[in-house]
Amino acid sequence: MHKKDYLCEVKRSIPRFMNANNIQNIVCDKLTEYLESNGMRKTPERYEILKACYSIQGSFTIEMLLQKMTNEIKFQVSRATLYNNVELLVQASLLMKHQLPHACQFERIDGKRTKCYRICSQCSSIKEFHNATLDKAIEGLSTTRFTPSHKTFYIYGICNKCETANSRKQKKHNTEKKRNEKR
Ligand SMILES: [Zn+2]
Repeated sequence: MHKKDYLCEVKRSIPRFMNANNIQNIVCDKLTEYLESNGMRKTPERYEILKACYSIQGSFTIEMLLQKMTNEIKFQVSRATLYNNVELLVQASLLMKHQLPHACQFERIDGKRTKCYRICSQCSSIKEFHNATLDKAIEGLSTTRFTPSHKTFYIYGICNKCETANSRKQKKHNTEKKRNEKR
């Protein structure tokens, strides 16, 4: 598919009424539903944390979210409260959790569209990518006795940056080895 066609397709799959405010309203309603059905308290901080998460594009760490809450939104919350509530949002299918090789990151869920990522096993960097063939194949998957909330696809490997650093290290090691052999 041509890149332009693909972008049109992506735009079409997101309903026109889904602007930033609408998305926040929809996820807040979902959170209310989840808290009520699980007999949990509807504390203002839970909603503030959810809204903060949905104001971030792409993946984020707890540390990044904490900075956003305290510096930008000016809502004081402890790291422990933030962590517990983010985990709650994951359980409520309102956030996705990326289990990276050395850490974990979180990201808002954008509709039912499949998200594809490549993860570097060495430095834990995570990058989203698009592939029309892959998207189509995953969308076409049928799951019996299972209702998917969102779909995520990961490819693990080594990023360019780490590969360059590794070969530089290897080169240095080889030169030193040769120098020692000459002695
Ligand atoms: Zn890397």
